[in-house]
Amino acid sequence: MSTAGLEYPFADTPAPGELREIVPGVLWLRMPLPMALDHINLYLLEDTDGWWIVDTGIAVGPTRDMWKRVFATHLAGKPVKAVISTHCHPDHIGLAGWLCERWRVPFYMTQAEYFSSLVFSRLQAEHFSWTSEQFMQRAGYTREQVERVRKSFGGYSKFVEPLPTAYLRLVDGGSLVIKDRRWRVVVGKGHSPEHACLYCEALNILLSGDQVIPRITSNISVMALEPEANPLKQWFRSHERFLDLLPADALVLPAHNTPFRGLHERLRYLIEHHEDHLLALEQACLDATPTPMELLPVMFKRKLDDNHLGLALGECIAHLNFLHQRGQLARETDAQGRHRYRSIDATLSQRLRARRYEADDSPPLQV
Ligand SMILES: [Zn+2]
Repeated sequence: MSTAGLEYPFADTPAPGELREIVPGVLWLRMPLPMALDHINLYLLEDTDGWWIVDTGIAVGPTRDMWKRVFATHLAGKPVKAVISTHCHPDHIGLAGWLCERWRVPFYMTQAEYFSSLVFSRLQAEHFSWTSEQFMQRAGYTREQVERVRKSFGGYSKFVEPLPTAYLRLVDGGSLVIKDRRWRVVVGKGHSPEHACLYCEALNILLSGDQVIPRITSNISVMALEPEANPLKQWFRSHERFLDLLPADALVLPAHNTPFRGLHERLRYLIEHHEDHLLALEQACLDATPTPMELLPVMFKRKLDDNHLGLALGECIAHLNFLHQRGQLARETDAQGRHRYRSIDATLSQRLRARRYEADDSPPLQV
């Protein structure tokens, strides 16, 4: 299954720092990122008495100056009224503190994302501890690789201005009214702990952040902070909720790539994409007992540099935790402290495929 059938209604992508109107009152603003993924899409929602900003861009490079130009030229004489961050990653929250202080306006986020941001922003090199080391050892890192990570640990605060010191909580099923339009909060999980998407039924528009992106797949990672987490299960479950709750023909405004239609097709593709990885991993653990590091080529065909290795391993472990916790992979620890995996029944994933994933701890959504 592919997602070749997605429709991209806006051929003219704005240049960095430039805006484009999606519909009256909803503007698309693109900002640069200093990495392989070289941009983020931010959105501005017009209210009667000001503008709501959805996601902020990163706190390095020209983004701040580009914001100043937007303020001077594109706000039609109205102030910024509020700032929303969909989730805790630096490109989404990097300038939230700066924007909120500059305009003295409230900051909106879900609770788990706000507190995650607070924790990440306080991590320093000295917080690299024995648990971080143990997590990496279990994944199959060499001593030399562990030392390299230790040296670069705690980089989050380089890309994020001091955070807003107070927030207003977004809650799944709650809503914001902006210029008489209701935007409902729909929480997705897996990429980050409590990612807020916003859906406006009157416009049939979904602001999807990193929860649904049309061309790239969002990272689903287990991190050292919670080594037995099962974010892939939450990701599957979130996608099924989105299929139930949101219309197939919604216009999706994602944080990366470009706006698209074909939400259900994309959600189904993403479920299949990860189910394919589960099957491939189980197969690879039939005749051997590999470590997560040894399993990376099963999921990632390209060569991975140090920057991508952590994310790739995190995603590999997310799949392994899912299979292990569903009783499909046995896990042992070898004499070097590495986790090794063995398939218990490789036909199980095939048989469980396309089953509904059990509910996780998400409360039922009130629509
Ligand atoms: Zn993200």
